[in-house]
Amino acid sequence: MHVVVTGGGGFLGSHLCDALLRRDDRVLCVDDFSTGNPENTAHLAGHPGFTFIRADVTDAFDVPGPVDAVAHLASPASPPDYHRRPLETLAVGSRGTENALRLAERHRARFVLASTSEVYGDPVVHPQREDYWGNVNPVGPRSVYDEAKRFAEALSTAYRRSLAVNVGIARIFNTYGPRMRPHDGRVVSTFIRQALDGEPLTIYGDGSQTRSFCYVDDLVRGIVSMIDSDLPGPVNLGNPSERTVRALAELVREATGSASGLDFRPLPVDDPARRRPVITRAQHQLGWFPLVTIEEGLRHTVEWFRSRHDRTPAERTAPEPVRR
Ligand code: NAD
Ligand code: UDP
Repeated sequence: MHVVVTGGGGFLGSHLCDALLRRDDRVLCVDDFSTGNPENTAHLAGHPGFTFIRADVTDAFDVPGPVDAVAHLASPASPPDYHRRPLETLAVGSRGTENALRLAERHRARFVLASTSEVYGDPVVHPQREDYWGNVNPVGPRSVYDEAKRFAEALSTAYRRSLAVNVGIARIFNTYGPRMRPHDGRVVSTFIRQALDGEPLTIYGDGSQTRSFCYVDDLVRGIVSMIDSDLPGPVNLGNPSERTVRALAELVREATGSASGLDFRPLPVDDPARRRPVITRAQHQLGWFPLVTIEEGLRHTVEWFRSRHDRTPAERTAPEPVRR
């Protein structure tokens, strides 16, 4: 297959490029490196199946050659990133998604949207099934991301209904692994960096809020299955093993062997209290389920962070979340 991966220079996108190339697909990656990192795909330079185009997908774009599938991952994803780039986040979710959809339409290609569990907002229904409509504050600080993704889902669905584009929506739950930026502000990367630096782990609120953490290899397998299917979705992709943030801190301390203390900070505005995917749809319709336990996934991730430790002195201060 010829697959276009927008956001392929980012954390998930670069792993997706690797997975597609491993099975001999040809991959064309489009990224502006606004939150990605050229190092993520540096090992692919010179690979005969890999092409990179540096472009902002909010500008209309086309690509040379055939296109069988478009995987649209371009978007800031960590809360500090989308708080820092609110207008860009809305633009890439709306205009960027439409440009990617048009590309798929022109080439009669499969289109897979990287949506998010954030479409459920701070969910009042737990765990979350795909037929739950969510609880999103449209004017809160997270809305630039949540509403952009909800709009992207609506737009993708309209392209399916009105223009018969073969659209599939994947709702991705918190995913972690190698190539996360140590200073992206997300909880797993932050805790690991802090533990390796011997700093206290910053817990927002009392740490009783929950997330369900999926290892990147599992998640990417799910995205590849979505690319290969004709399922419209939405399909939840995530690991239903739910943990409190406090429990995650303990797991990271164990995985790193760190004696770091805990530093309790105020909870960011609208921080979802709990999150866990129901994945029966992915299990039944894609035959997908996660295989990697959090202990094993953290071991691989810590190993990778250790191998890069002290190589990123430029970005020392983690951005603070919005608290008002
Ligand atoms: P990331 O920030 O590492 O990757 C996003 C990539 O998109 C970056 O390389 C960035 O430079 C690129 N990008 C952003 N705006 C762009 C634009 N206008 N034009 C071209 N490229 C642009 O984040 P990630 O964790 O890899 O997330 C990838 C996708 O998966 C995002 O759409 C995100 O919303 C979604 N997602 C991720 C998670 C997660 O836990 N990692 C959870 C839910 C959804
Ligand atoms: N969090 C935390 N300390 C940090 C970073 C995040 O306690 O240094 C919390 C955050 O408040 C949230 C959870 O960890 O409750 C997951 O945060 P993340 O930004 O990774 O993902 P999201 O909130 O988008 O699910």
